[in-house]
Amino acid sequence: MSEHTTCKRCGKPMLWGQTTPGGKAIPLDPEPDPTGNCERVGTTRAGAPIVLVLTKEQQEAQSLFTAERFMPHAATCTPNAGGDEVKLPANPTATQAFAAERARSNSAKQRQAVLAAIAARPSTDHELAAQLGLDGNSIRPRRKELQERGLIEPSGATRPSPSGRPCIVWRVSSS
Ligand SMILES: [Zn+2]
Repeated sequence: MSEHTTCKRCGKPMLWGQTTPGGKAIPLDPEPDPTGNCERVGTTRAGAPIVLVLTKEQQEAQSLFTAERFMPHAATCTPNAGGDEVKLPANPTATQAFAAERARSNSAKQRQAVLAAIAARPSTDHELAAQLGLDGNSIRPRRKELQERGLIEPSGATRPSPSGRPCIVWRVSSS
């Protein structure tokens, strides 16, 4: 694999680096960025940068090896359309960046599942959570995204939550 590839999600070029210690592949923005938290400490035989993922303290301190720094691509990746906003800290660790990658695809799958469930039967958030076997905290953001995109709307009806509170029954938008 070439160390230069294009991000499937945002279409921007990425440079594959390798972390040390650990030797894990990490997508980086190809242009060095002094505000990035990946410090170049070497080069693989294939020409990819070997990077040390700096802690916040290390990052604020003098450069350890007076070397180039790179920004993990996950920190700058902005999907084109219908993307999932996953908030990352300003200087994500590699672990956070990889977790965000997974969360993005999980969100998309969950959103589809929520929409399919509402299409099959107008439902409240609680009913969706029970039906899909997911936590309410997973359901609500996905339902909200569907609502914001105009794919679902309040049906006008409510049904009680397990604690007896009236909850909006969502349906697929009629318009
Ligand atoms: Zn990207």
